[in-house]
Amino acid sequence: MDEPIPTVVADRFAVLTGEVVCFKCAAKTPVAALAVGEHREGMELGEDGMDLVFERCFEPALLGNITWIDPDTLRAVKAVAPWMDLMASATAGEVYLGNSCTHCGVLQGDWFLREPEAPFFPMTDEAADLLVVVWQDVQLQAVADYGMSSWLDDLLERRGEYVSPLRSKRPRGAKGA
Ligand SMILES: [Zn+2]
Repeated sequence: MDEPIPTVVADRFAVLTGEVVCFKCAAKTPVAALAVGEHREGMELGEDGMDLVFERCFEPALLGNITWIDPDTLRAVKAVAPWMDLMASATAGEVYLGNSCTHCGVLQGDWFLREPEAPFFPMTDEAADLLVVVWQDVQLQAVADYGMSSWLDDLLERRGEYVSPLRSKRPRGAKGA
């Protein structure tokens, strides 16, 4: 099988780690998600989806639904979050980069981790500050969805780990184009 064409490429990326109570065994287990600062997003041109152009983006983005990840990138992810791997979701039957419970091994659904008040949709600065952010200076290549969120911008700015060069040019809280 040919290697897929990545939809997100970045020179470095962050592993965000939080904690949930496993829905199956009720033990506390770490869960992680990937984020990028400056990155390039692949956009399909043409109806056959064969032509992909890359657009440079400076805004941080949280990745989701990672259905493919470069093996070197995955190694760097697992160095921080060894409980993450490409695994099949029971509902969708698709393979994606997921979090398994460190006690019982059950997949912690991505969707469940991104509900309001879940680790990757914090509703307050205090909740966002519970996340551990580890940057890896390893190239990220993945087929994934990506979304911008103000909590991520704010968190990275508070940590001083990544500030979008666009951010200082517009009022706090304003949405980018
Ligand atoms: Zn469990």
